[in-house]
Formats: sequence, C-alpha cells, structure tokens
Amino acid sequence: MNRRQVLRGAAAVVGTAVGTAATGTAAGASALGRTGGEAAEAAGADTSAAAFASGRNGVALRWLGVAGWELSLDGRRVLVDPYLSRLPVFDEAGAFIPDHPLEVRSDLLDRHLTERPDLVLATHGHYDHLMEIPHVVERHGSRVIGTETHRHLLTAMGVPGDGVVVASGGEHLDFHGFTVEVFRSLHSQFGSYGYFAPGTLTAPPRRPATIGDLVEGGSLAYRVTARGFSVLFLSGTANFVEREVAGLRPDVLVLGMSGHTNVYDYTARVLRATRPKVLVPSHHDDMVTPLDDPALPARGNPAAATELADTARRIGLAAKVLDSEILRWYEF
Ligand SMILES: [Zn+2]
Repeated sequence: MNRRQVLRGAAAVVGTAVGTAATGTAAGASALGRTGGEAAEAAGADTSAAAFASGRNGVALRWLGVAGWELSLDGRRVLVDPYLSRLPVFDEAGAFIPDHPLEVRSDLLDRHLTERPDLVLATHGHYDHLMEIPHVVERHGSRVIGTETHRHLLTAMGVPGDGVVVASGGEHLDFHGFTVEVFRSLHSQFGSYGYFAPGTLTAPPRRPATIGDLVEGGSLAYRVTARGFSVLFLSGTANFVEREVAGLRPDVLVLGMSGHTNVYDYTARVLRATRPKVLVPSHHDDMVTPLDDPALPARGNPAAATELADTARRIGLAAKVLDSEILRWYEF
C-alpha cells in the first residue's frame, strides 16, 4: 500500500472517527462559517455545514494544512507556520528525501493568502514552518516573530533582519488590538529521542537550498489574545515545556499532533496543564498531497481528534474538539 492508498483509507473513516470524537465533545454551533476554499470543495468537503461557534468574539481561525494557521482578530490577520507548498519529500518507496530542494508554490500562496497579515509567528525553523515566510513578507511586508536562528535563516532567504522580532520565550508584546505572549517550547521527539535537522545559528548561513538547510533553531509557542479571548498555539510540533504553559487556560488550544512516541503522556499532560475550552488538532495530515489535488482529504488524520477527545474525557476536562477542515474558516 502506498501513501496515497493509506490516505484514501484514512479519508474513508473520517465520518466514523469524528463522530466518535464528537460524543465527548460538542458541535453545538450556529451556522456562521465562511466557505473554505477550492481545495476543500475539490476534496468533497461540505462547506455549507455549520461552523463551530458563536462568532461573538470576533475571532476566526483557519487551518492551512500541516501546521499552518491563519487567525483573524476583528479582521486583523496573524499567520502561524504557513506551509501550503506541501513538498513531495517522500520517494516512491516512502523514504524521506532530506536534501529535497526548497520550492515555494507561490501560486497557492497568492491564491489563498490574499489578506495582509500583521504578523507571522514561527514555531521553529524547519522547512514546513519557515520556508514560505519570505514569500509572505515580500508580498505583504508583515512582521515576523521567531528565535535568533530563525532570524538568521530568514535573513539568508532575503527577509530584512529588522522585520524579524527575535524572541526566546517570556515576551508579552502589544500589537494594539491584540497581544502576543511567547513561550519557550520544544520540538517533538521521535523513536531516536531526536528529530530531523536540529541545529542553531549565530550568523546568517549561505542561502538555504534544501529542506535540510532549514534547521530547527529552537521552538516557540504563542498565545494570541484579543478582547480577552485567547488562542494558544502549541501547534508546530508535538512537545512543550509543561511549566511554561501551566495555568494558561486559553479559550482555544491548537495542539500539534505529529509523532510523539517518546514524549511522556503528551496529550494528558498538556491538557491538564492548560485546561482549554476548545481543542484543535494541528500537524496531523500527510504533509505531501498537494493542496490543489482533489485526493486531498478535507480533514487530517481522524485519530488526532479522537485522541484529544478520549484524553479530555479521561482527565475530566469538558472541552470541545474542533477537527477543522482544511482552508475553512471557523468563527468563535
Ligand atoms: Zn519540525
């Protein structure tokens, strides 16, 4: 079975798994969702279905696929880890290609990211989080937040250094209409207790050319708050620093659900520490099926939403799970 067949299999059980997740959660909502987009429609998504919440808070969220998110705060936009290019980084045998060239699908960015973001938040330096930020900055002149290493990588890709706010965790920044708090975080740890392309930089490198050139460079989490409504993005990878986020109680937690084999009790620890009202899985799709491929499932792997719902139930947390469709807006 190849990756595509696996994907089709996953798509076929979406309805069942999401139904299971919803039993411990809720979909109670009025129909306020704006339509998703061509990809969702192409994937057969029902874009006329009810969206998630009341819309009273002026906050809306849209999944861009992989770990990419667009947040609208009374119309002002914040992007997190935009990655629409979905590079084909697996060969025919399913093996990862660590020196795959960096190739931005600028047609997709121009089609889907039409509104100027005030800010782009980088959770870490890997290609599927940082690669498209120079394109967004070039088009829109947006400000970026990331670590010192992320600034060096972006500078090497042509982003003016003074457009990148260097953060290390602990910052609480006022963008006059919304605030951003930055938290020290961690990359997920897989079977080897490590991950692809670790590394930090103290100066801009030569221009990055392959996905391996974009090193992790530290991981950050972000809480964005507007008029008292908060969205916590622990979204870029499946790990976190428990003491950094303990007691935050965000309205919405966007949680990375990529591999976390060797992260002890990941979902229960993060839900106990933060006690959010709404749980949104992130980084739980196959990362490679093109956004404009009709075979792209409307949602990510349904196991992620199920795991979140089951964990919430197990620890007695009355949270709703929003298993978002790709490119569809959900209003809160
Ligand atoms: Zn990563």
